Amino acid sequence: MDTQLQKVYDQVLRRNPGEVEFHQAVKEVFDSLGPVLRKRPEYVEGAVLSRICEPERQIIFRVPWVDDAGRVRINRGFRVEYSSVLGPYKGGLRFHPSVYLGIIKFLGFEQIFKNSLTGMPIGGAKGGADFDPHSASEAEVMRFCQSFMTELYRHLGEHTDVPAGDIGVGGREIGYLFGQYKRITNRHESGVLTGKGLTWGGSLVRTEATGYGVVYFVNEMMQEIGRSLEGARVAVSGSGNVAIYAIEKAQQLGATVVACSDSSGYVVDERGIDVELLKHVKEVERERIRCYADRRDSAVFSDRGSIWQVPVEVALPCATQNELREEDARALVANRVAVVAEGANMPCTPAATAVLQEAGVNFAPGKASNAGGVATSALEMQQNAARDSWGFAETDAKLQEIMHDIHDRCAGTAEEYGQPGNYILGANIAGFTKVADAVIAMGVV
Ligand code: GLU
Repeated sequence: MDTQLQKVYDQVLRRNPGEVEFHQAVKEVFDSLGPVLRKRPEYVEGAVLSRICEPERQIIFRVPWVDDAGRVRINRGFRVEYSSVLGPYKGGLRFHPSVYLGIIKFLGFEQIFKNSLTGMPIGGAKGGADFDPHSASEAEVMRFCQSFMTELYRHLGEHTDVPAGDIGVGGREIGYLFGQYKRITNRHESGVLTGKGLTWGGSLVRTEATGYGVVYFVNEMMQEIGRSLEGARVAVSGSGNVAIYAIEKAQQLGATVVACSDSSGYVVDERGIDVELLKHVKEVERERIRCYADRRDSAVFSDRGSIWQVPVEVALPCATQNELREEDARALVANRVAVVAEGANMPCTPAATAVLQEAGVNFAPGKASNAGGVATSALEMQQNAARDSWGFAETDAKLQEIMHDIHDRCAGTAEEYGQPGNYILGANIAGFTKVADAVIAMGVV
């Protein structure tokens, strides 16, 4: 790493002890920025990097609630409002037992550059709680969301901070959060949250957008190397919102998705994943992935080894951070994978990414390939601001255009910096420079 960058990175380590995922996310961006600082000394003089690495505001709060047995429960809630130079703070909420400040900061940091890459007027933020909706009843989830919003509402607003979903926060949770915000503020302020239901301000395509967007991005990458998704074998890790719609779109474009997973194991289905059955098992029954294999003759469940040992041409990690490790990357390379695109946020470890890049695999970082979700959130905000709602085809066409533009922005920037095909470099530099220029334009604030 460049000495200027190293100094700032050391400061980040000192100021944020123990937050390993955050350190990893910062390092991943910094590793791309050497050539930019040589070209743009004003970024160093203006201390732009230290300013971007320090969130504008970090909120940590107690979330008290009462469970079905009448016991008082306490969780910890977070909202890290990272950067508002390009627009109101924007980014999802994650409810998962693993949530702590380091996870929220890594996600918020990524979100700044991802949102910048979309070309939409949105800043970067992330929030959540160490709450597990999977082990709570419907009524407990509602009470938790109400308590969470009772604190968070004072920090939100359609021009201030606009949360959405992430792991553990889907349409159900957004409904309860929106209901409580509306009750406390006495405002039906639809632009304050995205991922809403379609009858009360939600946007068509928002549910599908992250997964569809990943596949639109992969489609662009494959065209670039003279290949196509038609007839390709694909593995998609995860079976949540991102994975389900990545599988659906890949199959619509003629690929066969032969494997998917959850935290308990993975299934291989040589006939291609039946996405309607998968949706039913995961979203209606809220069951484990094994139940999918129990219901389908062509599918086999395994809780040993890893989904990345299944031979495929395209691998889409869509589960969670650091799920695809060095040995997984080696297995993919041995099986001649051509494209790896991140659907989740930071699913590949730095060692795994290095293996893929050294082997010449086309690799798309999440901040580019999974930006379709937040981009469609920005489309939802546009519809809310205009008190309008668009049709599916129109919104989907806008998403496709956005993913095409993000692809070209990354590919063009990589080329400009002499590393054609390096989407990591392209995404980090293109995402960063837009934010850095806005930081300088607005003065020391
Ligand atoms: N959580 C999603 C992401 O990681 C979407 C955020 C949003 O729509 O605000 O980008």
